[in-house]
Amino acid sequence: MNGNIKIKNLNVHFMTKLGNVKAVDNVSLELEKGKVIGLIGETGSGKSVLGLSILRLLADNAIVSGNIYYEDMDLLSLNKKDMIGLRGKSIALVPQNPGTALNPIMRVGRQITETIISHEKVSKKEGVNRAFSIIKAFMMNRSNLKSYPFELSGGMKQRILAAIGISCNPMWLIADEPTKGLDAIVRGQVYDTFSKIKERNNAGMLLITHDLILARRLCDKIAVMYAGDILEYGLSREVLEKPKHPYTKGLVNSQPRKHLKPMLGSSPSLINPPEGCKFHPRCEGAMKKCSLEKPLLYKTVMGSEVRCFLFDKVEKRNEDI
Ligand code: SF4
Repeated sequence: MNGNIKIKNLNVHFMTKLGNVKAVDNVSLELEKGKVIGLIGETGSGKSVLGLSILRLLADNAIVSGNIYYEDMDLLSLNKKDMIGLRGKSIALVPQNPGTALNPIMRVGRQITETIISHEKVSKKEGVNRAFSIIKAFMMNRSNLKSYPFELSGGMKQRILAAIGISCNPMWLIADEPTKGLDAIVRGQVYDTFSKIKERNNAGMLLITHDLILARRLCDKIAVMYAGDILEYGLSREVLEKPKHPYTKGLVNSQPRKHLKPMLGSSPSLINPPEGCKFHPRCEGAMKKCSLEKPLLYKTVMGSEVRCFLFDKVEKRNEDI
């Protein structure tokens, strides 16, 4: 009962007309209490599916196996009532796309207040006061609570979603692509909002993002996902400043502040992913065994973990953390 979230051998497949989509492939990862862990990778790498698995918010066609431990519970086998009680109160979600995630016909103040009242059984007055104290910290004022979502800018809507997420002081916040689709100015406001959440709350955060500037600003640790696999995991500065895995190097080098060098090829099908290392068709350094055998996660001398045969001389990771 250390407050960590421990994901063990998680598999998530979706049954579709075209076949079985293997979105998360035997992932084991421990999210440490009080830390911000970034989950980065291209669109379709399984990041959001992994985040939503923790809260059991996946579509009905998802087939999930493995374990997700939190406190003394396995979230994947918790009964529905306990799971509903835990969402928002212990582990909260800041969903993607504030334009559609907020209720368009309800004032935003009521959307924050109702979350507080439903979980904490406080009076309406106290709920409103708490909602105001949260949005004040995000540079919004009391009159903003009376607005409908369409009356607010993209940055303000994102701040309201973040306010709903932290309104019950959860131990964990899962933020799904909080800067997706926003312009540079609004992205800057969202960076500030999440920096404030990090300073103000002692909560842990799983930050799912393709925005490496946001990841660099906020994250203590980074996990890199590709085609349902974790390819690299370690301290944020190690992963982003000295990436080891060829895929992480490609992601970092494709940023405007680095070399703006696009990566070869595109993400593979999750119905028929490549055999062996799933990145081998795009890897300039691929060897013969890369297409035959799947590499394990190997520990580097700097303590990060890399799923690549170039690092298999160091130390094999125990996949059963
Ligand atoms: Fe490239 Fe082989 Fe390493 Fe995969 S295992 S990233 S193909 S070198």
